[in-house]
Amino acid sequence: MSARDKLRSFFEANVGRVVTTKRLRKIGGISEYARRIRELRDHEGMQIRSHIDRHDLKPGEYVLESLDRIPRIGQGISPQLRNEILERNGYTCQLCGAGSKDPDPFNPNRTVRLHIDHILPLSQGGTDDKDNLRVLCSACNQGRSNIQTPTESARNILARIRKAPRAVQKEVFEALKQAFEINK
Ligand SMILES: [Zn+2]
Repeated sequence: MSARDKLRSFFEANVGRVVTTKRLRKIGGISEYARRIRELRDHEGMQIRSHIDRHDLKPGEYVLESLDRIPRIGQGISPQLRNEILERNGYTCQLCGAGSKDPDPFNPNRTVRLHIDHILPLSQGGTDDKDNLRVLCSACNQGRSNIQTPTESARNILARIRKAPRAVQKEVFEALKQAFEINK
C-alpha cells in the first residue's frame, strides 16, 4: 500500500472527523503526507479541508467532509489537451464508435456528449498523460452503453471519416449505401 492509498483509506474511515497532522504523518510518512493530501484533493477530487478553507479548523487539522468526489474533468485537463485528445480520437467514442451528433441510446431526444476519460482512473494512480486519456461518449462513460462494440478497425475508420469534411462524409455514405443496396 502506498502512502497515498493509506491516507485515502484513513480519511474515508474518518469522514466528517477532524484528523491531525500528527496522525497523518504517522500513516503517510513524515515527508510524504502533505503532498499526498494535495494529490487526493486535486487529482482525485476528495473534499479534504484544512484551516485555509475552514475557520473552525486549526493549523494542522484536516477534515474529509464527504465521500463524494468532485469531478475534475475540465479542471485537470486543459482545453488544449482536451481538443488534442478529441482530434486524435476523431471525435469518436473509443468504445462504441458514437460521435457527438449521434443519439443517446437511452434518451433518443438527446445526442451523446463526448468526455475525456482516464483509462486507468485517477483513483487508481492514473495520470493526465496523453496515453492514459481517450474519448468516451456519455453513455459509455457512465458504463451503461449496450451498443454493439465495433471492432477496432471499424472504429479507426469511423474516426477518420468524422475528421473529414461533411461533403466527403456524405460521399462515403452514398458510396457505401450504393454498394450495400446492390448486394442486397
Ligand atoms: Zn460510447
